[in-house]
Amino acid sequence: MSAPSDAPEVAQVPFIPLSVPHLSGNEWEYVKDCLDTNWVSSAGTYVGRFEAMLAETAGTRHAVAVQSGTAALHVALAVAGVGRDDEVLIPSLTFVASANAVAHAGAVPVFVDCEPVYRQMDPDLIAAFLADNCERAADGSLRNRRSGRRVAALMPVHVFGDPADMDRLAALAAEHGIAVVEDATEALGTRCSGRPAGSIGLLGCFSFNGNKLITTGGGGMIVTDDEALAKRARHLTTQARSGGAEYVHDEVGYNYRLTNIQAALGCAQMERLAHYLATKKRIAEHYDAAFADDPRIAVPARASWADSNHWLYTVRLRGADFETSRALIRGLAERRIEARPVWQPLHQSPAYNGAETLGGAVADEIYTDSVSLPSSVTLEPADQNRVIDAVRSITDGIGPGRRTAAP
Ligand SMILES: *Cc1c(COP(=O)(O)O)cnc(C)c1O
Repeated sequence: MSAPSDAPEVAQVPFIPLSVPHLSGNEWEYVKDCLDTNWVSSAGTYVGRFEAMLAETAGTRHAVAVQSGTAALHVALAVAGVGRDDEVLIPSLTFVASANAVAHAGAVPVFVDCEPVYRQMDPDLIAAFLADNCERAADGSLRNRRSGRRVAALMPVHVFGDPADMDRLAALAAEHGIAVVEDATEALGTRCSGRPAGSIGLLGCFSFNGNKLITTGGGGMIVTDDEALAKRARHLTTQARSGGAEYVHDEVGYNYRLTNIQAALGCAQMERLAHYLATKKRIAEHYDAAFADDPRIAVPARASWADSNHWLYTVRLRGADFETSRALIRGLAERRIEARPVWQPLHQSPAYNGAETLGGAVADEIYTDSVSLPSSVTLEPADQNRVIDAVRSITDGIGPGRRTAAP
């Protein structure tokens, strides 16, 4: 005989996801148009329309659509002149795709710690590295004295959608003659001192993966003001075909083109961008207000020059050890609320074992004590209040933990 149901009520409440797509505009109509007209592959009018919409939002002259944010970063680095055995400075606290793109370009990442306030790549560490650890070689290139390799580029990442300090980073790169490629994959709509993220470096890259601000299922975009770089990016993403009607290829290229169906989704999503940005801002402000007086929770700090797209709302648990932050994530999961840890800092990643790292302790602390909370544009105020109440009651129970490092 089965016992009367005493399953806790939480099993009945709706699941609250971390960050999911919202497809409620013209997506269906535009995709149907692709199917009806037979323009389903890499040619078709939506690709050009989507590129024009991105260029307008990013404030750049050119945009080249590609299959993913990672592909965008790979090709952007290549056209910025990053090649085999060059070094690229990237933050340690970022998604692994940033480093993978460097590796795909044949280059080697040098990981840079973040500053503790805004959690972005630390310009002081970069300034010290460029001034003290690098020298100008006879061929005019900047060399890392330790490795002997050329330092070719700086790739800031606008982590969580908050801007890196581009004014300082771009000035440092200019002073030392290295290229800037922005990983703006999380930062569509973000501004830094009034300038759109992605438009400040030589090239910028966006992602339209399912968890990003807008989605094409999967996709990416390279933006730049430089016509020659845009042309070369387009060339490399289309198998470097140079023969007009003939199959002639002047170098090794890639099949990185976005399809018309994906671009159709992207056009419909871009029509909703202003609404998404307003919704994300409302969600972030509601969390900010709810946690403002909670001594256990540090809400994201916002610089005066920063205008975030609030892509993923990520808090730090003050004084928490690794187990405590993970206990919060598990407790939320039991209440059918999806929360996530932040990425393992890349200087700890087995995939990049032995890579040179500038600092790293701040990224380790953020990895230890941070939790990302539901931030979907579909998050209703009542559901957000459920998240806030759950965070409060779970952190009441677990209290601040000992300071133990991540495994
Ligand atoms: C999402 C993301 C990427 C990669 O984008 P994909 O479209 O998933 O390839 C790169 N860097 C960062 C920081 C990201 O968040």
